[in-house]
Amino acid sequence: MKKALITGITGQDGSYLAEFLLEKGYKVYGLTRRTSTVNNERIAHIQDRITLVQGDLLDQSSLSAALMETEPDEVYNLAAQSFVKTSWNQPVLTGEFTALGVTRLLEAIRTINSKIKFYQASSSEMFGKVTETPQKETTRFHPRSPYGVAKVYGHYITVNYRESFGIFACSGILFNHESPRRGLEFVTRKITRAVARIVLGKQDKLELGDLNPKRDWGFAGDYVEAMWLMLQQEKADDYVIATGENHSVSEFVELAFQAVDISDWKKYVAANKTEHLRPAEVDYLIGDYSKAKKVLGWKPKTNFKQLVDMMVRADVKMEKGNGKA
Ligand code: NDP
Ligand code: GDP
Repeated sequence: MKKALITGITGQDGSYLAEFLLEKGYKVYGLTRRTSTVNNERIAHIQDRITLVQGDLLDQSSLSAALMETEPDEVYNLAAQSFVKTSWNQPVLTGEFTALGVTRLLEAIRTINSKIKFYQASSSEMFGKVTETPQKETTRFHPRSPYGVAKVYGHYITVNYRESFGIFACSGILFNHESPRRGLEFVTRKITRAVARIVLGKQDKLELGDLNPKRDWGFAGDYVEAMWLMLQQEKADDYVIATGENHSVSEFVELAFQAVDISDWKKYVAANKTEHLRPAEVDYLIGDYSKAKKVLGWKPKTNFKQLVDMMVRADVKMEKGNGKA
């Protein structure tokens, strides 16, 4: 039985990856940090099938201890301060988690068992102010936030440990991916939750920032398969994972309201609210996943409309049940 350790298992992707690996017959371990209240909502349904170990990306010895305790074949590093907007408020902490955290984990692998295969959760935010469209593995990075800058560091340290020490280390450059388990602060989930609350009469308005940026949005459940596939190859490499299609925030809003049969969505939406604008914006992302398709045999299964519908349906159901999943 193969063993995998997932950092960030309590997050959106961690929960989908844990389900996926359990289905593949893995023994799944998850690294969680100590919190005053337990935050295991996304993995509650599989908690009796996984094993949690305590550790924090800020604490080197806890990472080494977790590797010694669990002896994994594969480590998936999904933990990060993952919200772009927060990274301007907490730039140093974002660097500690999202950048240096990767080195701490790679150091633990190098010293404890350099045969462990490693996956790093890189991001399309590294492309930022894009220099080429669509963006692929060779596109130059120009990050536009402390988060994007930290992810560039995480990407290159992964490449560097592969080149320096021969560690099987892969970087998945994933474009935005969403689901009913997406954090409430991200724009997609903020929209679908508000639409559910508006249609149920619990909320009047949806306040947003810039409606023009375009993102290549996919479904998280599809993307975790690509993470696993990267670690099953002969050779470690880096891959763009995307849908190859992009849409603006306003298109997302329109479709989400359409899912509950509201066509005059503009009367519910207040845009350009200062508190939701960013010091520097990423205007246009669209990924070219042809390398992943060719080498990994991966392609997305869920289209944009299916994703929006799935998220709205789940939020309506949740809001009818008083916000409980
Ligand atoms: P989430 O924000 O949902 O989850 C982040 C996870 O990281 C949580 O489990 C969180 O734990 C954990 N974490 C945060 N800080 C630490 C720390 N210091 N030590 C240990 N664990 C920590 O993110 P997603 O699931 O959406 O994303 C997974 C990864 O993929 C992230 O690295 C993200 O940056 C990256 N990514 C995501 C994209 C997306 O569109 N979703 C796109 C590209 C990259 P806790 O529950 O305790 O807070
Ligand atoms: P990101 O691509 O990782 O930054 O994911 P987000 O979901 O946080 O943001 C996607 C895009 O939506 C960005 O261009 C944001 O500026 C834009 N956006 C517009 N209004 C909002 C809002 O109210 N909240 C968030 N999170 N993003 C918003």
